[in-house]
Amino acid sequence: MNTTRYYGVEHHVGNTPLIRLRRLSELTGCEILGKAEFMNPGGSVKDRAALGIIQAAEAAGKLHPGDTIVEGTAGNTGIGLTVVGHAKGYRTVIVIPETQSPEKISLLRTLGAEVITVAEKPYSDPGNYNHVARRLAETKGWFWANQFDNVANRLIHYRTTGPEIWAQTKGEITAFVSAIGTGGTLAGTALYLKERNPAMATVCADPYGAAMWSWFTRGDTEVKDGDSIAEGIGQNRVTKNLEGVVIDHAYRIADQPALTILYDLLRQEGLFLGLSSGINLAGAVRYAQAIGPGQTIVTILCDSGLKYQSKLYNATWLKSHDLDPDLCLKSIKDI
Ligand code: PMP
Repeated sequence: MNTTRYYGVEHHVGNTPLIRLRRLSELTGCEILGKAEFMNPGGSVKDRAALGIIQAAEAAGKLHPGDTIVEGTAGNTGIGLTVVGHAKGYRTVIVIPETQSPEKISLLRTLGAEVITVAEKPYSDPGNYNHVARRLAETKGWFWANQFDNVANRLIHYRTTGPEIWAQTKGEITAFVSAIGTGGTLAGTALYLKERNPAMATVCADPYGAAMWSWFTRGDTEVKDGDSIAEGIGQNRVTKNLEGVVIDHAYRIADQPALTILYDLLRQEGLFLGLSSGINLAGAVRYAQAIGPGQTIVTILCDSGLKYQSKLYNATWLKSHDLDPDLCLKSIKDI
């Protein structure tokens, strides 16, 4: 039987649909489009980074079947590494802050990763999850994925996410918006799209408690006040993946407007998403407000609400965090 037309799961990362967000498009007079990264095999945009990092390590002779990959992650990169890792014959050890959603932590265990939970510590602290992963790699001889500073991460977005968006919009995209965890998604996609059309605007949507708005608007990382419950985003330093990228606009997005968008999408459009997707969409709306109608604005729908049912989709939990799921989205002034 000829099987060459059929491929395993590691060949089905990416090529995700581009979905029109009807209500946000109508309210802004722009086409607001979301790249459905939650439809990747491991359920998030980070499957791309996982695949890119593994492929680059294989090409450099740093990974061989049976090897162990170790990574510090908010969860999604660990899920991607474990899914792609199983398909290619690697085991994974995942170091994750205990503050991340229980759904992600238990999913990682179910998938077969060895999971090490650690207390949440700032990057400057040696107990930070990334440093724990790096030290494990050093002492055990494991491969450290190093998603924050390994540019194989942004390179796969340059090679796949950017070209897919360009083709799906037939080059009509006028702005690309993304929040930042490692910066791989924003930087890699922005670098490609700017090469195709330097006039296309690149936009950072930053949660409170992060320093990227400060970095792109003022050139320092001093402003990182406030806080956010969003998982997987919120960066306080310029990672290697972010170096040299041109970002034209940046907005600070509070959790409530992002949550209001998420519930509106769930109730009116059948889309069930995590909070970083809401922050991205709020950033797209802020850009549309600033520039005016007629734009084609693309952003990322990073992962599914399934991973956050005990938090974002739990009324009691939301109330204890002063968040309201029932605020109606009537106008873009609400964002
Ligand atoms: N959203 C979620 C849910 C994530 O897990 C991540 C990655 N940590 C991102 C957004 C940000 O992606 P990137 O690391 O490419 O900046």
